Amino acid sequence: MYKLSTEALLEKAITTPELTHEELVQLLSLPDEQIPQLMAAADTVRQNTVGNAVHLRGIIEFSSYCKQHCAYCGLRADNREIERYRLSPEIILETAQAAVDTGYHTLVLQCGEDMKIAPETIAELTTEIKQMGAAVTLSCGERSYEVYQLWRKAGADRYLIKHETADPALYKSIRPGHTLYERLQCQHWLKELGYQLGSGCMIGLPGQTVDILARDLELMKEMEVEMCGMGPFIPHAQTPLHFGNTGSISMTLKMMAAARIYMPWMMLPATTALVSLHPEGRELALRAGANVIMPNVSPETTRSLYQIYPGKLNHRDSMTDYYNKITALVEAEGRTVGTDLGHSIYTAYHQ
Ligand code: SAH
Ligand code: SF4
Repeated sequence: MYKLSTEALLEKAITTPELTHEELVQLLSLPDEQIPQLMAAADTVRQNTVGNAVHLRGIIEFSSYCKQHCAYCGLRADNREIERYRLSPEIILETAQAAVDTGYHTLVLQCGEDMKIAPETIAELTTEIKQMGAAVTLSCGERSYEVYQLWRKAGADRYLIKHETADPALYKSIRPGHTLYERLQCQHWLKELGYQLGSGCMIGLPGQTVDILARDLELMKEMEVEMCGMGPFIPHAQTPLHFGNTGSISMTLKMMAAARIYMPWMMLPATTALVSLHPEGRELALRAGANVIMPNVSPETTRSLYQIYPGKLNHRDSMTDYYNKITALVEAEGRTVGTDLGHSIYTAYHQ
């Protein structure tokens, strides 16, 4: 099949998101010395579509209890070596109010699949945080249609549930007892209920290929995903995937840039996993098409206990100091901090 030169392909990428599977594979296979050109193309697309703003979403990790057995994650139920915690509704609301007062316009409530927190409690928290004037993203794993509906009715705007990998066999091996189909069923329900859908995948999973990574992007386009979080896989000693290699920063940047080019409307965060591996991970991500940063606003007492993977970024700043640091970083990159709720532009883009 006819293959474009890198230069011609990047020129095409700036003008149209219609890339073939082979072209995505070609972008993801670029040698390291050509990554700056790919990032520059993604940066142009980013500026032309979602603009200069970087949206800050404060994330509250409110419970580290989880009933699941994901082979990659340190919070898996079988890991008896971590200290678990669950924040009280009072602490969650206090934290959320402090974050809103600091300047955050979105709060992300994330947890393991903790069945001891009633869905009604999460619904009430959602409604109360909405009343503070912030948008709410929930990231609480796989639940029933009825539970997603309850939370949507309570006011949740967005839901983050990554597909993790687009390869059904690889998916089965990293989430024993579950199928990719079930995960996508949840994503379909969330779309149907009117949530802005966040998905994403890990980069560098054992057995993953460039072909699978290209399919990750294709799957997200097909699912009409509005936010995609992609971070390097970081092996955790107390998990079955402890033997794996750490995902590469270059491949993560290539995936982010390719995602921006292929799905220009996307809300694309600089993931904590990337920032945990590279001191300038946020700056690199912002240059590769990112337009979202998700600073951790969880209370300091429990922040270090949410051990999804080892070496997870754990700052010790006050809420205000951290917000100011991130704002300074964003501005040093020639960008501005978003002043609105930072909703998806998916619908407007497709009109
Ligand atoms: N329980 C929810 C949300 C918390 S997990 C859920 O599973 O959807 C949040 C994300 O952390 C996961 O989607 C996964 O992509 C990421 N993650 C888990 N373990 C990881 C690891 N070892 N390396 C990198 N990312 C990991
Ligand atoms: Fe639980 Fe999510 Fe970790 Fe899986 S990835 S073990 S569902 S916290």
